Amino acid sequence: MSKQLLFIPGPVTVAEPVLAAMGKPMIDHRGPEFKVLLESISRKLKPVFGTSGDVVILGSSGTGGLEAAMTNMFAPGEKVLCCPVGVFGDRFAEIARTWGVEVEVLPTAWGHGVDAQALKARLDADTKREIKGVILTHNETSTGVQNPMGPLADAIRAHGALVLVDSVSGLAASEFTMDAWGFDVVVAASQKALGVPPGISMVAISPRAWEKMATANAPRYYFDLRKAREFAAIGQTPATPPVSQCFAMDVALDRYAETGPANVWARHQRYTDGIIAAAETLGLELFAQPGVRSVTVTAIKVPAGIDGDAIRKTMRVERGYVLGGGQARLAGTIVRIGTMGDISQTDVLGMLGAFEMELLGAGLKIQVGSGVQAALRVFLEASQPSAA
Ligand SMILES: *Cc1c(COP(=O)(O)O)cnc(C)c1O
Repeated sequence: MSKQLLFIPGPVTVAEPVLAAMGKPMIDHRGPEFKVLLESISRKLKPVFGTSGDVVILGSSGTGGLEAAMTNMFAPGEKVLCCPVGVFGDRFAEIARTWGVEVEVLPTAWGHGVDAQALKARLDADTKREIKGVILTHNETSTGVQNPMGPLADAIRAHGALVLVDSVSGLAASEFTMDAWGFDVVVAASQKALGVPPGISMVAISPRAWEKMATANAPRYYFDLRKAREFAAIGQTPATPPVSQCFAMDVALDRYAETGPANVWARHQRYTDGIIAAAETLGLELFAQPGVRSVTVTAIKVPAGIDGDAIRKTMRVERGYVLGGGQARLAGTIVRIGTMGDISQTDVLGMLGAFEMELLGAGLKIQVGSGVQAALRVFLEASQPSAA
């Protein structure tokens, strides 16, 4: 099978016009064309983050953006409250520890979102304001959980701690209102919901965060956000940027605006609803609790006696559908299906049909076609004009 459709949660299937933009001739990254390109990208990213503040781009994957956020904001010995709900939240905390930032963890069982009341209670108890930052994951890709960002923002506001958010697999797939929520540094990456090849991390920064950075003294060089801002002011980046990805990003942002953000969000929700309906009809359990389920990745528990990794392998090799597996302690126990990127409703139906074939082949007792049918119903209902 030479054709492959990516149903993994990044990198994602890239639309042809976006891919084609990568083939443009190279330009001088210190010349006038790049200045126009960088300003265009930065301007178009602001509404995606829901901010009127600065958005800088870094030549890195999402993890580089997370490291930039942490090292620019906090100095060794300062304390942050990390609220991990899976592998990527743990990674953000690990970055903090690596740089000598003191980490306290607000524990959450995997599959759940952060409990806003527990967060508020912990912050209320911090009467001496020892906690300088709260570290959140918007969308936890390893468990398929999307945190309730509005309630979490409300829980933090009175305390006044700075808020760093990993929205790498969340941004652009649902509404994000950074300024209204009062977040200070929000990190995203090109290869997720915006559907661009990997290579760019986008970092949105509040005025309050810039003030804090002026006094933070952790060592940094490549990921110096203040330097990135200085260079952005003259239409450049401190070091050579991923120019081809920038061409692609500009086209992807135009497509995002033309489609309409609300339509993009609705598409991710609809695909997710279809996949969830299929899973439930097939008698499969979801890993994430109701109410906090991600719209970019659905984690499905593999039934006892079935080898999820073997199913994924056959789907990839023989049917051309690439699904994600479980990470860290979830390895082998879940299958993760992404909804980001250039995939259609019929792609989703085809993938679900292939998934059913593999489940049947593995000996699971399911009614043939019932999962696909459940998803098809969701899609047909969504396409009906709503009764006013
Ligand atoms: C993909 C992802 C990252 C970053 O991963 P990179 O491989 O460094 O781009 C970080 N956080 C979350 C939630 C992600 O999904």
